[in-house]
Amino acid sequence: MKLGYQTRAFDEAAKKLGVELAFVTERCHRLDDPWHDRALPVHFEAPEEAAHAVMKAQEGRRVHGVLALGDRPTLAAAYAARGLGVLHNHPPSIEACRSKLRMREAFRYAGLPVPWFRSVMLQPTPEPSLLDISYPCVLKPHSLSASQGVVRANTRKEFLAGAARLRHLLESAEIQATREPNLDRMLVEGYLPGREVAVEGLLTEGGLRLLAIFDKPDPLEGPFFEETIYVTPSRMGEAEQNAVKKCFADAVRALGLIHGPVHGEFRINEKGVWPIEVAARPIGGLCARALQFRLDGQNETIALEELLLRHALGWPGSDALREGASSGVLMIPVPASGILERVDGVEEAKSVAGVTNLEITARLHDYIAEWPEGSSYMGFVFAKAERPEEVEAALRAAHGKLRFTITPRLPVEHPVTKRV
Ligand code: ADP
Repeated sequence: MKLGYQTRAFDEAAKKLGVELAFVTERCHRLDDPWHDRALPVHFEAPEEAAHAVMKAQEGRRVHGVLALGDRPTLAAAYAARGLGVLHNHPPSIEACRSKLRMREAFRYAGLPVPWFRSVMLQPTPEPSLLDISYPCVLKPHSLSASQGVVRANTRKEFLAGAARLRHLLESAEIQATREPNLDRMLVEGYLPGREVAVEGLLTEGGLRLLAIFDKPDPLEGPFFEETIYVTPSRMGEAEQNAVKKCFADAVRALGLIHGPVHGEFRINEKGVWPIEVAARPIGGLCARALQFRLDGQNETIALEELLLRHALGWPGSDALREGASSGVLMIPVPASGILERVDGVEEAKSVAGVTNLEITARLHDYIAEWPEGSSYMGFVFAKAERPEEVEAALRAAHGKLRFTITPRLPVEHPVTKRV
Protein backbone atom coordinates (compact mmCIF):
# COMPACT_ATOMS: atom_id res chain seq x y z
CA MET A 1 0.00 0.00 0.00
CA LYS A 2 2.18 2.75 -1.30
CA LEU A 3 -0.36 5.46 -0.66
CA GLY A 4 -0.63 4.62 3.00
CA TYR A 5 2.24 6.97 3.85
CA GLN A 6 0.78 9.91 2.02
CA THR A 7 -2.69 9.27 3.43
CA ARG A 8 -1.24 9.35 6.92
CA ALA A 9 0.69 12.54 6.21
CA PHE A 10 -2.55 14.21 5.08
CA ASP A 11 -4.31 12.90 8.16
CA GLU A 12 -1.67 14.47 10.39
CA ALA A 13 -1.82 17.79 8.54
CA ALA A 14 -5.63 17.79 8.75
CA LYS A 15 -5.57 17.13 12.50
CA LYS A 16 -3.15 20.00 12.96
CA LEU A 17 -5.40 22.34 10.97
CA GLY A 18 -8.63 21.05 12.55
CA VAL A 19 -9.96 20.00 9.15
CA GLU A 20 -12.11 16.94 8.54
CA LEU A 21 -10.97 14.57 5.81
CA ALA A 22 -13.04 11.90 4.08
CA PHE A 23 -10.87 9.21 2.47
CA VAL A 24 -11.83 7.29 -0.64
CA THR A 25 -9.94 4.13 -1.51
CA GLU A 26 -9.90 1.27 -3.97
CA ARG A 27 -8.44 -1.24 -1.55
CA CYS A 28 -10.22 -4.54 -1.22
CA HIS A 29 -13.80 -4.02 -0.06
CA ARG A 30 -13.58 -7.02 2.20
CA LEU A 31 -10.71 -5.65 4.25
CA ASP A 32 -11.94 -4.17 7.44
CA ASP A 33 -10.57 -0.63 7.58
CA PRO A 34 -6.88 -1.58 7.99
CA TRP A 35 -5.80 2.06 8.16
CA HIS A 36 -8.58 3.04 10.57
CA ASP A 37 -9.54 5.89 8.30
CA ARG A 38 -13.13 4.77 7.57
CA ALA A 39 -12.32 5.16 3.87
CA LEU A 40 -15.11 4.81 1.33
CA PRO A 41 -14.30 1.85 -0.95
CA VAL A 42 -14.79 2.47 -4.70
CA HIS A 43 -13.37 1.21 -8.00
CA PHE A 44 -11.16 3.87 -9.52
CA GLU A 45 -11.39 2.25 -12.94
CA ALA A 46 -15.12 3.18 -12.91
CA PRO A 47 -14.59 6.89 -12.16
CA GLU A 48 -18.16 8.08 -12.69
CA GLU A 49 -19.57 5.43 -10.39
CA ALA A 50 -16.88 6.25 -7.84
CA ALA A 51 -17.89 9.92 -8.05
CA HIS A 52 -21.53 8.95 -7.47
CA ALA A 53 -20.57 6.97 -4.35
CA VAL A 54 -18.59 9.94 -3.03
CA MET A 55 -21.50 12.34 -3.67
CA LYS A 56 -23.89 10.03 -1.88
CA ALA A 57 -21.55 9.66 1.08
CA GLN A 58 -21.12 13.43 1.32
CA GLU A 59 -24.80 14.32 0.88
CA GLY A 60 -25.81 17.31 2.98
CA ARG A 61 -22.21 18.25 3.83
CA ARG A 62 -20.14 21.02 2.35
CA VAL A 63 -16.94 19.74 0.73
CA HIS A 64 -14.23 22.36 0.19
CA GLY A 65 -11.71 20.45 -1.88
CA VAL A 66 -10.81 17.15 -3.52
CA LEU A 67 -7.24 15.86 -3.77
CA ALA A 68 -6.02 12.76 -5.61
CA LEU A 69 -2.98 10.87 -4.31
CA GLY A 70 -1.28 8.73 -6.92
CA ASP A 71 -2.27 8.47 -10.59
CA ARG A 72 -5.12 6.00 -10.42
CA PRO A 73 -7.64 8.07 -8.44
CA THR A 74 -7.13 11.27 -10.46
CA LEU A 75 -10.07 10.74 -12.83
CA ALA A 76 -12.51 9.68 -10.11
CA ALA A 77 -11.39 12.75 -8.13
CA ALA A 78 -12.11 15.04 -11.10
CA TYR A 79 -15.63 13.60 -11.55
CA ALA A 80 -16.31 13.72 -7.81
CA ALA A 81 -15.21 17.36 -7.68
CA ARG A 82 -17.60 18.19 -10.54
CA GLY A 83 -20.45 16.49 -8.73
CA LEU A 84 -19.64 18.25 -5.49
CA GLY A 85 -19.24 21.64 -7.15
CA VAL A 86 -15.59 21.98 -6.16
CA LEU A 87 -13.04 23.71 -8.40
CA HIS A 88 -10.86 21.02 -9.97
CA ASN A 89 -9.45 19.86 -13.28
CA HIS A 90 -11.84 18.95 -16.09
CA PRO A 91 -12.07 15.13 -16.53
CA PRO A 92 -10.82 15.13 -20.17
CA SER A 93 -7.63 16.88 -19.02
CA ILE A 94 -7.07 14.12 -16.51
CA GLU A 95 -7.77 11.48 -19.15
CA ALA A 96 -4.98 13.03 -21.22
CA CYS A 97 -2.64 12.78 -18.22
CA ARG A 98 -3.56 9.14 -17.62
CA SER A 99 -2.78 8.03 -21.18
CA LYS A 100 0.80 8.40 -22.34
CA LEU A 101 -0.48 8.36 -25.94
CA ARG A 102 -3.06 11.12 -25.39
CA MET A 103 -0.45 13.15 -23.54
CA ARG A 104 1.98 12.98 -26.48
CA GLU A 105 -0.87 13.97 -28.82
CA ALA A 106 -1.82 16.92 -26.60
CA PHE A 107 1.81 18.09 -26.45
CA ARG A 108 2.29 17.75 -30.21
CA TYR A 109 -0.98 19.59 -30.89
CA ALA A 110 0.15 22.44 -28.64
CA GLY A 111 3.47 22.69 -30.47
CA LEU A 112 5.58 21.36 -27.60
CA PRO A 113 8.67 19.32 -28.50
CA VAL A 114 7.79 15.61 -28.63
CA PRO A 115 9.75 12.59 -29.85
CA TRP A 116 8.15 10.50 -32.61
CA PHE A 117 5.63 8.06 -31.08
CA ARG A 118 3.42 5.14 -32.12
CA SER A 119 0.93 2.95 -30.34
CA VAL A 120 1.85 -0.63 -31.22
CA MET A 121 0.05 -3.93 -30.64
CA LEU A 122 1.74 -6.36 -28.26
CA GLN A 123 -0.13 -9.53 -29.11
CA PRO A 124 1.12 -10.33 -31.68
CA THR A 125 4.02 -7.89 -31.62
CA PRO A 126 4.67 -6.73 -35.19
CA GLU A 127 8.05 -7.14 -36.84
CA PRO A 128 9.81 -3.91 -35.83
CA SER A 129 11.60 -3.50 -39.18
CA LEU A 130 8.16 -3.14 -40.77
CA LEU A 131 7.25 -0.31 -38.40
CA ASP A 132 8.19 3.28 -39.05
CA ILE A 133 10.53 3.50 -36.05
CA SER A 134 14.19 4.19 -35.39
CA TYR A 135 16.67 3.31 -32.62
CA PRO A 136 17.22 4.02 -29.79
CA CYS A 137 13.57 4.00 -28.80
CA VAL A 138 11.56 3.54 -25.61
CA LEU A 139 8.78 0.98 -25.12
CA LYS A 140 6.22 1.74 -22.43
CA PRO A 141 2.77 0.79 -21.22
CA HIS A 142 -0.03 3.24 -22.05
CA SER A 143 -1.01 3.98 -18.49
CA LEU A 144 1.14 2.54 -15.71
CA SER A 145 3.36 4.73 -13.54
CA ALA A 146 6.66 4.77 -11.60
CA SER A 147 8.52 3.75 -14.79
CA GLN A 148 7.06 0.26 -14.47
CA GLY A 149 7.44 -1.55 -17.79
CA VAL A 150 9.45 1.27 -19.42
CA VAL A 151 12.30 -0.21 -21.51
CA ARG A 152 14.88 1.28 -23.85
CA ALA A 153 15.71 -0.64 -27.06
CA ASN A 154 18.80 0.14 -29.12
CA THR A 155 18.36 -2.65 -31.67
CA ARG A 156 15.67 -4.85 -33.24
CA LYS A 157 16.69 -7.67 -30.91
CA GLU A 158 16.28 -5.46 -27.84
CA PHE A 159 12.95 -4.21 -29.17
CA LEU A 160 11.63 -7.78 -29.44
CA ALA A 161 13.00 -8.75 -26.02
CA GLY A 162 11.60 -5.57 -24.44
CA ALA A 163 8.20 -6.07 -26.04
CA ALA A 164 8.06 -9.69 -24.83
CA ARG A 165 8.96 -8.58 -21.31
CA LEU A 166 6.35 -5.80 -21.36
CA ARG A 167 3.69 -8.16 -22.69
CA HIS A 168 4.48 -10.65 -19.94
CA LEU A 169 4.16 -7.88 -17.31
CA LEU A 170 0.90 -6.52 -18.74
CA GLU A 171 -0.58 -10.02 -18.84
CA SER A 172 0.24 -10.69 -15.18
CA ALA A 173 -2.70 -11.07 -12.81
CA GLU A 174 -1.57 -8.06 -10.79
CA ILE A 175 -1.60 -5.67 -13.74
CA GLN A 176 -4.75 -7.19 -15.26
CA ALA A 177 -6.51 -6.52 -11.96
CA THR A 178 -5.96 -2.78 -12.46
CA ARG A 179 -8.28 -2.91 -15.53
CA GLU A 180 -6.30 -0.09 -17.04
CA PRO A 181 -7.17 0.40 -20.71
CA ASN A 182 -4.83 -0.73 -23.52
CA LEU A 183 -3.01 -3.44 -21.60
CA ASP A 184 -2.59 -5.22 -24.96
CA ARG A 185 -0.64 -2.33 -26.50
CA MET A 186 2.52 -0.34 -25.90
CA LEU A 187 3.65 3.14 -26.77
CA VAL A 188 6.91 3.23 -28.71
CA GLU A 189 8.71 6.56 -28.94
CA GLY A 190 12.06 8.07 -29.78
CA TYR A 191 14.63 7.98 -26.96
CA LEU A 192 15.42 11.48 -25.71
CA PRO A 193 19.01 11.83 -24.52
CA GLY A 194 19.83 14.35 -21.84
CA ARG A 195 19.52 15.20 -18.19
CA GLU A 196 16.26 14.79 -16.34
CA VAL A 197 14.50 16.91 -13.72
CA ALA A 198 11.28 16.48 -11.76
CA VAL A 199 9.17 19.53 -11.09
CA GLU A 200 6.53 20.13 -8.46
CA GLY A 201 3.90 22.82 -9.00
CA LEU A 202 0.61 24.13 -7.70
CA LEU A 203 -2.15 25.48 -9.93
CA THR A 204 -4.64 28.08 -8.76
CA GLU A 205 -7.42 28.74 -11.24
CA GLY A 206 -5.02 28.28 -14.14
CA GLY A 207 -2.05 30.12 -12.61
CA LEU A 208 0.99 27.91 -12.05
CA ARG A 209 3.31 28.35 -9.07
CA LEU A 210 6.55 26.40 -9.14
CA LEU A 211 7.23 24.73 -5.78
CA ALA A 212 10.52 23.00 -6.59
CA ILE A 213 12.77 21.71 -9.36
CA PHE A 214 14.54 18.47 -8.42
CA ASP A 215 17.75 17.51 -10.22
CA LYS A 216 18.17 13.79 -10.84
CA PRO A 217 21.96 13.53 -10.66
CA ASP A 218 22.18 9.85 -11.68
CA PRO A 219 22.08 9.33 -15.45
CA LEU A 220 18.78 7.77 -16.53
CA GLU A 221 19.89 6.14 -19.75
CA GLY A 222 18.15 2.80 -19.45
CA PRO A 223 17.59 0.07 -20.35
CA PHE A 224 15.23 0.55 -17.37
CA PHE A 225 14.34 3.78 -15.61
CA GLU A 226 14.14 3.20 -11.88
CA GLU A 227 14.48 6.55 -10.06
CA THR A 228 17.25 7.13 -7.55
CA ILE A 229 18.24 10.57 -6.25
CA TYR A 230 16.19 13.80 -6.28
CA VAL A 231 17.85 16.99 -5.00
CA THR A 232 16.43 20.51 -4.77
CA PRO A 233 17.19 23.34 -5.43
CA SER A 234 18.41 22.58 -8.91
CA ARG A 235 22.04 23.22 -9.76
CA MET A 236 21.10 24.26 -13.30
CA GLY A 237 21.74 27.83 -14.36
CA GLU A 238 18.99 30.43 -14.26
CA ALA A 239 18.34 30.32 -18.02
CA GLU A 240 17.88 26.54 -17.99
CA GLN A 241 15.62 26.69 -14.94
CA ASN A 242 13.51 29.33 -16.67
CA ALA A 243 13.30 27.14 -19.76
CA VAL A 244 12.08 24.24 -17.58
CA LYS A 245 9.52 26.52 -15.90
CA LYS A 246 8.25 27.67 -19.28
CA CYS A 247 8.00 24.12 -20.61
CA PHE A 248 6.15 23.05 -17.44
CA ALA A 249 3.64 25.90 -17.82
CA ASP A 250 3.19 25.11 -21.55
CA ALA A 251 2.70 21.40 -20.84
CA VAL A 252 0.15 22.09 -18.10
CA ARG A 253 -1.72 24.45 -20.45
CA ALA A 254 -1.59 21.91 -23.31
CA LEU A 255 -3.31 19.38 -21.05
CA GLY A 256 -5.85 21.95 -19.84
CA LEU A 257 -5.02 21.45 -16.15
CA ILE A 258 -6.23 24.34 -14.02
CA HIS A 259 -6.30 23.63 -10.30
CA GLY A 260 -4.38 21.70 -7.66
CA PRO A 261 -0.99 19.96 -7.45
CA VAL A 262 0.94 19.01 -10.59
CA HIS A 263 4.11 16.95 -10.95
CA GLY A 264 6.19 16.83 -14.14
CA GLU A 265 9.28 15.14 -15.55
CA PHE A 266 11.42 16.83 -18.19
CA ARG A 267 14.52 16.02 -20.23
CA ILE A 268 16.99 18.71 -21.17
CA ASN A 269 19.45 18.51 -24.05
CA GLU A 270 21.04 20.83 -26.61
CA LYS A 271 17.74 20.98 -28.49
CA GLY A 272 15.86 22.33 -25.48
CA VAL A 273 13.46 21.09 -22.79
CA TRP A 274 11.22 18.11 -23.56
CA PRO A 275 8.21 17.19 -21.44
CA ILE A 276 8.26 13.48 -20.55
CA GLU A 277 5.06 13.61 -18.57
CA VAL A 278 2.85 15.71 -16.31
CA ALA A 279 0.55 14.26 -13.66
CA ALA A 280 -2.31 16.00 -11.84
CA ARG A 281 -1.19 14.93 -8.37
CA PRO A 282 1.58 15.74 -5.91
CA ILE A 283 4.98 13.99 -5.86
CA GLY A 284 4.44 10.38 -4.78
CA GLY A 285 4.28 8.80 -1.37
CA LEU A 286 7.11 9.35 1.04
CA CYS A 287 9.12 11.52 -1.39
CA ALA A 288 6.91 14.47 -0.45
CA ARG A 289 8.84 14.58 2.81
CA ALA A 290 11.73 16.13 0.91
CA LEU A 291 9.61 19.28 0.58
CA GLN A 292 9.10 21.57 3.57
CA PHE A 293 7.74 25.10 3.39
CA ARG A 294 8.07 28.13 5.62
CA LEU A 295 5.01 30.19 6.50
CA ASP A 296 5.56 33.93 6.59
CA GLY A 297 7.26 35.03 9.80
CA GLN A 298 7.30 31.53 11.33
CA ASN A 299 10.24 29.37 12.19
CA GLU A 300 8.62 25.98 11.97
CA THR A 301 8.24 24.45 8.55
CA ILE A 302 5.07 22.87 7.20
CA ALA A 303 4.75 19.73 5.10
CA LEU A 304 3.66 19.67 1.46
CA GLU A 305 0.44 17.99 2.63
CA GLU A 306 -0.39 20.94 4.88
CA LEU A 307 0.34 23.36 2.05
CA LEU A 308 -2.00 21.40 -0.24
CA LEU A 309 -4.78 21.29 2.35
CA ARG A 310 -4.48 25.04 2.89
CA HIS A 311 -4.67 25.48 -0.87
CA ALA A 312 -7.71 23.22 -1.27
CA LEU A 313 -9.47 25.17 1.50
CA GLY A 314 -8.49 28.58 0.14
CA TRP A 315 -6.72 29.31 3.44
CA PRO A 316 -3.67 31.55 3.76
CA GLY A 317 -0.30 29.85 3.67
CA SER A 318 -0.52 28.00 0.37
CA ASP A 319 1.88 30.64 -0.98
CA ALA A 320 4.57 29.59 1.56
CA LEU A 321 8.01 29.26 -0.02
CA ARG A 322 10.22 26.19 0.23
CA GLU A 323 12.59 26.27 3.21
CA GLY A 324 16.08 27.60 2.62
CA ALA A 325 18.05 24.34 3.05
CA SER A 326 18.91 22.01 0.18
CA SER A 327 16.95 18.82 0.45
CA GLY A 328 16.87 15.48 -1.27
CA VAL A 329 15.61 11.93 -1.28
CA LEU A 330 17.09 8.66 -2.46
CA MET A 331 14.59 6.10 -3.68
CA ILE A 332 16.61 3.04 -2.72
CA PRO A 333 17.03 0.89 -5.84
CA VAL A 334 16.04 -2.77 -5.84
CA PRO A 335 19.38 -4.61 -6.31
CA ALA A 336 17.78 -7.89 -7.47
CA SER A 337 14.38 -9.53 -7.70
CA GLY A 338 13.69 -12.02 -4.94
CA ILE A 339 12.67 -12.49 -1.33
CA LEU A 340 14.07 -9.83 0.99
CA GLU A 341 15.69 -11.75 3.84
CA ARG A 342 17.73 -9.12 5.69
CA VAL A 343 18.59 -5.47 5.76
CA ASP A 344 21.86 -4.39 7.38
CA GLY A 345 23.53 -1.06 7.91
CA VAL A 346 20.41 0.98 8.64
CA GLU A 347 21.84 2.59 11.79
CA GLU A 348 25.15 3.38 10.04
CA ALA A 349 23.27 4.91 7.12
CA LYS A 350 21.10 6.98 9.46
CA SER A 351 24.16 8.33 11.22
CA VAL A 352 25.69 9.78 8.02
CA ALA A 353 25.96 13.57 8.46
CA GLY A 354 23.08 15.30 6.71
CA VAL A 355 20.77 12.27 6.69
CA THR A 356 17.49 13.30 8.33
CA ASN A 357 15.45 10.16 7.91
CA LEU A 358 15.60 6.66 6.50
CA GLU A 359 12.75 4.23 6.04
CA ILE A 360 12.92 0.73 4.64
CA THR A 361 9.49 0.16 3.15
CA ALA A 362 10.09 -3.25 1.49
CA ARG A 363 8.73 -5.93 3.77
CA LEU A 364 10.97 -8.68 5.09
CA HIS A 365 10.21 -12.15 3.66
CA ASP A 366 8.17 -10.62 0.83
CA TYR A 367 8.98 -10.78 -2.86
CA ILE A 368 10.32 -7.58 -4.38
CA ALA A 369 10.82 -7.06 -8.11
CA GLU A 370 13.54 -5.16 -9.92
CA TRP A 371 12.58 -2.78 -12.71
CA PRO A 372 11.06 -2.96 -15.28
CA GLU A 373 8.62 -5.39 -13.65
CA GLY A 374 8.94 -3.68 -10.28
CA SER A 375 7.42 -0.42 -9.12
CA SER A 376 8.31 -0.25 -5.40
CA TYR A 377 11.63 0.83 -3.93
CA MET A 378 13.47 -0.79 -1.01
CA GLY A 379 12.84 2.40 0.93
CA PHE A 380 13.76 6.05 1.11
CA VAL A 381 16.64 8.10 2.54
CA PHE A 382 16.21 11.82 3.16
CA ALA A 383 18.97 14.36 3.61
CA LYS A 384 19.33 18.08 4.16
CA ALA A 385 22.37 20.34 3.99
CA GLU A 386 23.33 23.82 3.01
CA ARG A 387 24.25 22.93 -0.56
CA PRO A 388 22.76 20.42 -3.03
CA GLU A 389 26.17 18.74 -3.54
CA GLU A 390 26.29 17.92 0.18
CA VAL A 391 22.79 16.46 0.07
CA GLU A 392 23.73 14.26 -2.87
CA ALA A 393 26.94 13.13 -1.13
CA ALA A 394 25.03 12.29 2.09
CA LEU A 395 22.47 10.22 0.17
CA ARG A 396 25.21 8.33 -1.67
CA ALA A 397 27.15 7.70 1.53
CA ALA A 398 24.02 6.42 3.29
CA HIS A 399 23.23 4.14 0.36
CA GLY A 400 26.78 2.76 0.55
CA LYS A 401 26.16 1.60 4.13
CA LEU A 402 23.02 -0.39 3.32
CA ARG A 403 23.18 -4.13 2.57
CA PHE A 404 20.21 -6.12 1.37
CA THR A 405 20.12 -9.90 1.42
CA ILE A 406 17.77 -11.11 -1.28
CA THR A 407 17.31 -14.73 -2.28
CA PRO A 408 15.97 -15.54 -5.72
CA ARG A 409 12.53 -17.06 -5.86
CA LEU A 410 12.42 -20.40 -7.65
CA PRO A 411 10.91 -20.18 -11.12
CA VAL A 412 8.33 -22.81 -10.22
CA GLU A 413 6.90 -20.43 -7.64
CA HIS A 414 6.53 -17.72 -10.25
CA PRO A 415 3.80 -18.91 -12.58
CA VAL A 416 2.86 -16.75 -15.49
CA THR A 417 -0.77 -15.88 -15.06
CA LYS A 418 -2.37 -15.59 -18.45
CA ARG A 419 -5.34 -13.41 -19.18
CA VAL A 420 -8.54 -15.36 -19.66
P1 ADP B 1 5.93 6.60 -15.85
O1 ADP B 1 4.66 7.38 -15.91
O2 ADP B 1 5.71 5.15 -15.64
O3 ADP B 1 6.93 7.19 -14.92
P2 ADP B 1 7.29 7.83 -18.10
O4 ADP B 1 6.77 7.95 -19.47
O5 ADP B 1 7.31 9.07 -17.27
O6 ADP B 1 6.52 6.67 -17.34
O7 ADP B 1 8.76 7.26 -18.17
C1 ADP B 1 9.49 6.90 -17.03
C2 ADP B 1 10.93 7.31 -17.19
O8 ADP B 1 11.48 6.68 -18.35
C3 ADP B 1 11.16 8.79 -17.41
O9 ADP B 1 11.24 9.49 -16.20
C4 ADP B 1 12.45 8.79 -18.19
O10 ADP B 1 13.58 8.66 -17.34
C5 ADP B 1 12.34 7.54 -19.03
N1 ADP B 1 11.78 7.85 -20.36
C6 ADP B 1 10.48 7.76 -20.71
N2 ADP B 1 10.30 8.14 -21.98
C7 ADP B 1 11.52 8.47 -22.46
C8 ADP B 1 12.02 8.92 -23.72
N3 ADP B 1 11.22 9.09 -24.77
N4 ADP B 1 13.34 9.15 -23.84
C9 ADP B 1 14.18 8.97 -22.79
N5 ADP B 1 13.78 8.53 -21.59
C10 ADP B 1 12.47 8.29 -21.41
